[in-house]
Amino acid sequence: PWRKWPETQAVLDALINEGGAVRFVGGCVRDALLGLATDDIDIATDLLPGTVIQGLERAGITALPTGLDHGTITAVLNKRHFEITTLRVDVVSHGRHAEIAFTQHWERDAERRDFTFNALYLDPAGELVDPVGGLADLAVRHVRFIGNAEDRIREDRLRVLRYFRFYARFGANNPDEHAVRACAKAARQLGQLSVERVQKELFLLLDSENPGPALELMDDTGVLAAIIDGPADKGRLKSLLSLDVPSDGLLRFAALLGGDKERALHLATKLRFSNKQKDRLAVMCAGDVVADMPASTRKEALYKIGKAGFLEQTLLLWASLGPNHKLDAYLEEASCWTAPEFPVTGQDLLSRGIGEGEKLGRMLKEMESRWIASGFRRTKAELLSDFLPDA
Ligand code: ATP
Ligand code: MG
Repeated sequence: PWRKWPETQAVLDALINEGGAVRFVGGCVRDALLGLATDDIDIATDLLPGTVIQGLERAGITALPTGLDHGTITAVLNKRHFEITTLRVDVVSHGRHAEIAFTQHWERDAERRDFTFNALYLDPAGELVDPVGGLADLAVRHVRFIGNAEDRIREDRLRVLRYFRFYARFGANNPDEHAVRACAKAARQLGQLSVERVQKELFLLLDSENPGPALELMDDTGVLAAIIDGPADKGRLKSLLSLDVPSDGLLRFAALLGGDKERALHLATKLRFSNKQKDRLAVMCAGDVVADMPASTRKEALYKIGKAGFLEQTLLLWASLGPNHKLDAYLEEASCWTAPEFPVTGQDLLSRGIGEGEKLGRMLKEMESRWIASGFRRTKAELLSDFLPDA
């Protein structure tokens, strides 16, 4: 469908009008061949970045220099994004970052890419260009490095993680021997990678539908231990993955770390997770909160940490204890939960003469605690007369 978007045509036209050759490349072509939807469109061109910007601007399309040092411009039109990258080769690399040079040769652009099925090009007429045999590998779902795996990993060690994330998404259960050996060999050197790149690849892997076999392989090669700074709780991960719940990378991350809050937060900080992710981790790892709670306390916990947090805590605990009637009942209860609404508002207190400010906030909090402790039963009138008998 993305080929039919008017925005796609407008971007192609803008480049063709500058005299450029253009082809779609990478994930969008691969995914289209598999019948998968995507809205992440990469375009390769022989135009130099300056000319790309000029062509886009002449056509009234926003051009953002999102990766100028490696030849990438992002075109934005009607909120759709297109990454346009000039044909290039990697000249020298140090395992972290490559210095690049532009080229006019499509084959050389293909060879600097990572896996054969990521170097498939589609020209505007709809013809597939396959310089490194990606189509055949895609057909049998073979994740294969272009060239020698060890060399390619030495150029950019992030490719180790990319191998496993593409293996998780597209690999049949037949890992490439050379690739696996090369990944194992590089496991000790992954510490030098930029944490942002690691974090991004890690979530692409953990969020995928079925990351189990890839994680297993990562564990065998020592790559997983290198990334999570220690052993993985494989049992807990396995039972979490056996549950019929939506893919959730963060929950799986917590499971891999055995639900160990301190360890999870430490690693999350190192890998620069967002504060929101860290807050969620802290809640989901506090599993003791739900274990063995009487019904009334459980409802309080549900109200305080929210339905999502409660469900995540319980799932993580379930993954550690295994099939468990009690937790099944908790999950059932939480799924049906709608939070009751605290009946008193700031306005109620203002109209009874409590001035705005700290005191009002504190009083509301205390009233809410009283209300929760009553099993959400105390009414507004009762609460007001508890706290303001003379008003
Ligand atoms: P996704 O659908 O997950 O976005 P993708 O194949 O588009 O998958 P990207 O990370 O968006 O992956 O990269 C786009 C393309 O750029 C890849 O298909 C690949 O050809 C090339 N590429 C990206 N990162 C690397 C890398 N580290 N080494 C070599 N080639 C790379
Ligand atoms: Mg992509």
